[in-house]
Amino acid sequence: MVSKTALTFYGGIGCIGGNKILLRDRDAKIFLDFGEPFNFGEKYFSRWLWPRESRFGLKDYFVLNLIEPLMGLYSEKMLEHVDLPYTEPEYQGIFISHIHSDHNRHLRFVDEKIPVYFGQTTLRMLESWQLTSRFSVGEHEFRTFRTGDRIKIDDLEIEPIHVDHSTPAAYGFLIHSSEGAIAYTGDLRRHGPMSHLTEDFINAVKEARPSVLICEGTRVAPKERRQNLTEKQVYQTCVDIVSRTKNLVVTTFYGRDVDRMKTFYKIAKKTNRRFIVSSRIAHLLNALLPDPGIEVPDPIRDESIGIYCRVLKRRYVWEKELLEHAIDAQYIRENQKNIILVLDFSQFAELIDIMPAEGSSFIHSMSEPFEEDDIEDEIKHNWCERFNLEFHQAHASGHCSKDEIFKLIKEINPKKVIPIHTEHPRLFKVKFDNALIPASRQQILL
Ligand SMILES: [Zn+2]
Repeated sequence: MVSKTALTFYGGIGCIGGNKILLRDRDAKIFLDFGEPFNFGEKYFSRWLWPRESRFGLKDYFVLNLIEPLMGLYSEKMLEHVDLPYTEPEYQGIFISHIHSDHNRHLRFVDEKIPVYFGQTTLRMLESWQLTSRFSVGEHEFRTFRTGDRIKIDDLEIEPIHVDHSTPAAYGFLIHSSEGAIAYTGDLRRHGPMSHLTEDFINAVKEARPSVLICEGTRVAPKERRQNLTEKQVYQTCVDIVSRTKNLVVTTFYGRDVDRMKTFYKIAKKTNRRFIVSSRIAHLLNALLPDPGIEVPDPIRDESIGIYCRVLKRRYVWEKELLEHAIDAQYIRENQKNIILVLDFSQFAELIDIMPAEGSSFIHSMSEPFEEDDIEDEIKHNWCERFNLEFHQAHASGHCSKDEIFKLIKEINPKKVIPIHTEHPRLFKVKFDNALIPASRQQILL
């Protein structure tokens, strides 16, 4: 008998990010995530050569075989200059696991009539992100969910279940199909401050005895080359660094790593410093204030937080209220020993106005560079050297280690495991007889 249920992987196989998993069950067709891989298009494009998306929509991507031309999926506007005709949607929904762009960035190509399902808090973060940057996933009908919801699409029942990751409101999915349960981890970790969320996911999936587990493997590699701290250890390491620092402390972390924002807020409190953030971070914290599950500090009313105001030619409307409370480079220069300043790489030139004094520190609180000859890493070091900043590294990953992933698979004990979001799927095969590595775009029948 022909199987009623099938999975096709249009992204995320053999690489980190870009997950795009099509699940078909009888007449129902849904996607799990719709991301852009980190190395997207690098074979043909570079910093000086860009796809002509704003003029020709999907044309360049189709011709270069970077995106699959599927009927009934993309918006009319994106198909204006390609041979694939526009037809009414053939997909009932796209389920997004979390806010990172390697899981949702290609939504901008999708027909606005196809509903997009997001965690409630993810949508709040996304609205803040789209307002404060050039990032956009396009116009869609957004439908939000929380853990405990069950969304029915024909014979499919989709259960989003929270997991801990380096952004709030990250979810895995447990899907009840005509051919048994299918579980998808999204991105997750077990060493974070909210590890109990991941345990909830594992327990629910284990109980469902899934036919297939689609499992992330970001850190599944022959050798772990990076520092491996917990969020608590990041806190302790940084408290030590800040306590030893005579003057300014500057730090950089990922823009949506709210746990890290909270960690540095606590470090600032502990070391009697003021935590100075960008207006973009302040906007995000403000947007998350109503969510009782996340407990972020109030960037406007909490006096231990300040908002750094760069000298800019024009101000955005969204910044106005925040910048009533802003402080400038001169204030930071004059109060350096009482400050922890968050500065993105793109804002490093602010150091020219701030002029950190001898005995200042820089804490790089994100992943170490992938490549040894990483050009941005070299530039960061050059700025630190020029501006009296001693370089430190302290980061907790958003992903399970290799051992944690393998333990999780053993605990869940699925009939089949499909590795995704990993450069080393073969290592799953070595460890598990039931590991299955699909080719990209290959249909797997359940
Ligand atoms: Zn992620």
